[in-house]
Amino acid sequence: MDDFPLTRVAALKRLTRFLPKAGSAYGTQRNLVDPNGQHDNVSRLSAALRRRLIGEDEVVRAVLSAHRIESCTKFIDEVFWRTYWKGWLEQRPGVWRNYLADCTAMRPGTAVTEAMAEAIAGRTGIDAFDHWAQELAETGYLHNWARMQVASIWVFTLDLPWQFGAQWFEDKLVDADPASNTLSWRWVAGLHTADKTYLADADRIAAMTGGKFRPQGLAQTAQVPYDRPLPPQELMREPKAIDPALPTLVLITPEDCSLETVLPTLDVRIVIVAADMARNPWDQTALGDAASRAAAHWQCPVGSGDVATLAKQHGCSQVVTGFAPIGHVASALEDLGTALERRGISLAEHQRNWDRLCWHHCGKSFFNLKSRIPLFLEDLALA
Ligand SMILES: Cc1cc2nc3c(=O)[nH]c(=O)nc-3n(C[C@H](O)[C@H](O)[C@H](O)COP(=O)(O)OP(=O)(O)OC[C@H]3O[C@@H](n4cnc5c(N)ncnc54)[C@H](O)[C@@H]3O)c2cc1C
Repeated sequence: MDDFPLTRVAALKRLTRFLPKAGSAYGTQRNLVDPNGQHDNVSRLSAALRRRLIGEDEVVRAVLSAHRIESCTKFIDEVFWRTYWKGWLEQRPGVWRNYLADCTAMRPGTAVTEAMAEAIAGRTGIDAFDHWAQELAETGYLHNWARMQVASIWVFTLDLPWQFGAQWFEDKLVDADPASNTLSWRWVAGLHTADKTYLADADRIAAMTGGKFRPQGLAQTAQVPYDRPLPPQELMREPKAIDPALPTLVLITPEDCSLETVLPTLDVRIVIVAADMARNPWDQTALGDAASRAAAHWQCPVGSGDVATLAKQHGCSQVVTGFAPIGHVASALEDLGTALERRGISLAEHQRNWDRLCWHHCGKSFFNLKSRIPLFLEDLALA
């Protein structure tokens, strides 16, 4: 599983190995998709970044120490695409709620249901699509450019609902992320930027796959699917602040698996992992790794069981966890926060400086955020 690192050590190793490729090579080769699944032109750090086994700041610092800023701009921009989607969804949580509601409420007919099953099994007869559907099933990963083609063919050629395509990816991707996934599907379908769709093109697919694929019968026009009116922009959720003086239970969720690197001096009495918030075995691996590192760092036991009971047993009046952006973990934490409050225990969340600084600038276009990247790098003492 080192192909898509799920421990901090593996992620740091992957970062070191990828560094020589993060400069101008990334700029020119990142969209070439190896049909044999050797994705050496890209970092494959997404599974680790998504779970914060490693931070964006750590990745960007390492890349800037290996390259002049002019030659690694493209890579840094891509890291900020993740930030952009996270910050955008944070300000429009209604888009996530609508997506979840659609997935539950929509009742596709038999023909559409069968077509989706065939697509997911990689049996559409569209060579590139079928190959990538099978690669996703086998590895849990697809190259970004392949994800764009698959999503586009799903929506415009196969005429299938984008929500179920996004749900398919969410179930299968090793880096499944509510913001990056849902909003990338919406971007491809033309629901993010007005008048901008992404239409897959057979010649481009042939060019990017070294001639291995030349799909037949792709849609020539992009019919933007129906969408509900865009939910209003909301104020971002303010996490409850951490009191560094309080005896603390650290709760590790799949949203932040390296809290000891950012909160080294907390008075931690016990660490527990939110096993019920793991959505797949990859989450479980990352949580296990995070728990052993945290326990070693804070010199405390790792417990399992009811959070409030364990907090009381260990004399903790505060539970600290990583800030959970819009998604499944955030919903689960909301319920937990209420339950803890009833027992007189506060649930405080650590929001990373990166998010605190950048998310406010994600409400408009990516290019609005991108124009500020040099300032962010300076503020975060990375450049
Ligand atoms: C339809 C679709 C669905 C997607 N779903 C997810 C998802 O669930 N989770 C996820 O992490 N990414 C998602 N992406 C974005 C992107 O495809 C992956 O982040 C990227 O392919 C991961 O591979 P990498 O780590 O080798 O990326 P690199 O090219 O090495 O990029 C470095 C890092 O930058 C970030 N990044 C790069 N490209 C993007 C992008 N377009 N959007 C957001 N972040 C980016 C990732 O954190 C990545 O690890 C999706 C893209 C599309 C088109």
